[in-house]
Amino acid sequence: MSPGKTASHAIMKSQNQQKVLHLIYTEGPISRVELAQKSGLTQQTVTNIVNRLLQEDIVKQGEPVESLVGRKRVPLMVNSAEMYTIGIEISGKLIRGALYNFQYHRLVRLERRVNKFEHREHVLETVCSIIDEIIGQTPDTSRLKGIGICVHGLVDSHHGVILRPPGLGWTPLTIREPLESKYGFPVYVENDVNLLALNESMNGCLANSDHNITLMIDWGIGGAIMVDKQLVTGTNFVAGEFGHYKSFSGEDALLCHCGSMGCLTTIASESGLMRNFGIGLDLFEAKVRNQEPASLELYSKIAEALKMAIGNVITFLNPDHVMLTGKVMEAFADTLVPELQSSIPGMIPETCRKVNIIHQREMPEETELAASLVLRHVFAAPSIPGSL
Ligand SMILES: [Zn+2]
Repeated sequence: MSPGKTASHAIMKSQNQQKVLHLIYTEGPISRVELAQKSGLTQQTVTNIVNRLLQEDIVKQGEPVESLVGRKRVPLMVNSAEMYTIGIEISGKLIRGALYNFQYHRLVRLERRVNKFEHREHVLETVCSIIDEIIGQTPDTSRLKGIGICVHGLVDSHHGVILRPPGLGWTPLTIREPLESKYGFPVYVENDVNLLALNESMNGCLANSDHNITLMIDWGIGGAIMVDKQLVTGTNFVAGEFGHYKSFSGEDALLCHCGSMGCLTTIASESGLMRNFGIGLDLFEAKVRNQEPASLELYSKIAEALKMAIGNVITFLNPDHVMLTGKVMEAFADTLVPELQSSIPGMIPETCRKVNIIHQREMPEETELAASLVLRHVFAAPSIPGSL
């Protein structure tokens, strides 16, 4: 076989294996016969692939079951209890790490808190010390399939670079390459809100949605956009940066950490309240509930700004769902959320009113979101031929 043919044969072989593995993960327990029917591959190709996956202990067999026609069928499923992934969460003052098996049972959890990350190496050293400790406690490191990293900040997920590491400003941190060369596992990096949107689209409250927006109003404000079930990242991975929507003018236009004025995050986020008004979210919530005039006025500015910004995003992108989440939404779940749900439809064109504005209160731990990145890659459907 010519080198070209050998390469394309290898690609086809790995695409077929990925097709089978994806089916076992998403539809298992599943028999070889069903795999051949659903994948369009021959019975022999499926048998060869399954034998390989059994040999590598990635897949296991259940007890044979009677079938309506022909021989008993042997159900196949992913050996998820005995494969592991490490999930890392990186935020401004904290790095957390955990070991999960592929059933999302957490086996180890560690964290390191710092007052402030001093430089890029400080972040990297802290991440490595956590990974080292987790690997030391992993039952079988040959079954460790990768490291997922969830970052509170802008991420170039294609190249594994944190564009704006939390607490370090605009100092890009290449994280995938040094970790992959040190540990030899695949490393995947993604922004926290993007990860949440991916997770909810997979098996959560966005599972039935094709086009959606996730808005997290928390210490900071972030957003994620999904079109046709795919993340939209923009040219520089900045798409969805909802916190920097221009939302306040006149004397309310305060300086934002991005360098411009009047961004949504300067008032509507917990960090904005803290920085510009010297008040934490808990105290602010208490003052609003006590009807204190100055806090009520601030609350109403936040509500109005959110209505305008969310209304504009809906008009521009025409999503079927908008998912709201984060600590600010949680604090005012009984007032702000219903207010947004009831008033936004009246502010937008009738043609895009068929949108469900939902509130997600239960967020998975971010190390778990990070770990899910590894599973997403291990069991991904094969890419379209020609796109490799
Ligand atoms: Zn800004």
